[in-house]
Amino acid sequence: MTARTAAISVRGLQKRFGAKTVLSGIDLDIHTGDVTCIIGPSGSGKSTLLRSIAFLDPYDSGDVQVFGKMIGWRETPLGRERAGAKELAETRRPLGMVFQHFHLWPHMSVLDNVTLALRLAHGAARKQAEETGRAMLEKVGLATFADRRPDSLSGGQKQRVAIARALACKPKAMLFDEPTSALDPELVGEVLSVMKTLAAEGMTMVIVTHEMGFAAHAANRVVFMDGGRIVEEGSPRALFAEPKSMRLAQFLQTWR
Ligand code: ADP
Ligand code: MG
Repeated sequence: MTARTAAISVRGLQKRFGAKTVLSGIDLDIHTGDVTCIIGPSGSGKSTLLRSIAFLDPYDSGDVQVFGKMIGWRETPLGRERAGAKELAETRRPLGMVFQHFHLWPHMSVLDNVTLALRLAHGAARKQAEETGRAMLEKVGLATFADRRPDSLSGGQKQRVAIARALACKPKAMLFDEPTSALDPELVGEVLSVMKTLAAEGMTMVIVTHEMGFAAHAANRVVFMDGGRIVEEGSPRALFAEPKSMRLAQFLQTWR
């Protein structure tokens, strides 16, 4: 298989859970600097696609390349075999991930949460890790929160800590899975604002979201999924103003 030039390149991706096919042949290229929003009804396979890109869910067939390297599998003369843990971690390294739930360690300070992966997985020295961690906290507007415990923070602040934690590992692309869905409405804006700043700085981002306003303004590309397939994709303007498929038109109706 030849390396493709996109930051993330998905070809013929299929994923089953038991007898149920959840992704039925996804093709998608994410180029450097792209801000791609993935929209679609619940159960359409958005999270599974994102998790497959990071190989958190092992996909069944097709392939996903992350910065030119197939993730999770390696080709051998006898066929495909699962990549080892070290190889997987290496291929996954350029990806930063943010989920709906923040998964912060309650017994650790905000700064320790942000620097943990840096120190453990990347082997950075404490001083250097803390310097990076503080810089990332500043970036998400939480410089003065370094010594706080997560449970003293609002949901929006916790999610910004989770973004700082992902950024601390210097990802080349960020994957977000409904980063604002667990937040009270008044806290959504502060998280979207951090994401807009990242986008403006040129970060490559793939964002599963129900925030249509954000998708319309921050994304340069929107992908609509339904039933484990990409039904439509294009500029936000094209998709939101002139949906081609009935399914997208109906889906957008529910958000108006
Ligand atoms: P979305 O994120 O678009 O809501 P998901 O990717 O979470 O959709 O799920 C797609 C389909 O796969 C759903 O029908 C869901 O029930 C199923 N699914 C997701 N994860 C699992 C799992 N770990 N085991 C079995 N079925 C799953
Ligand atoms: Mg989901």
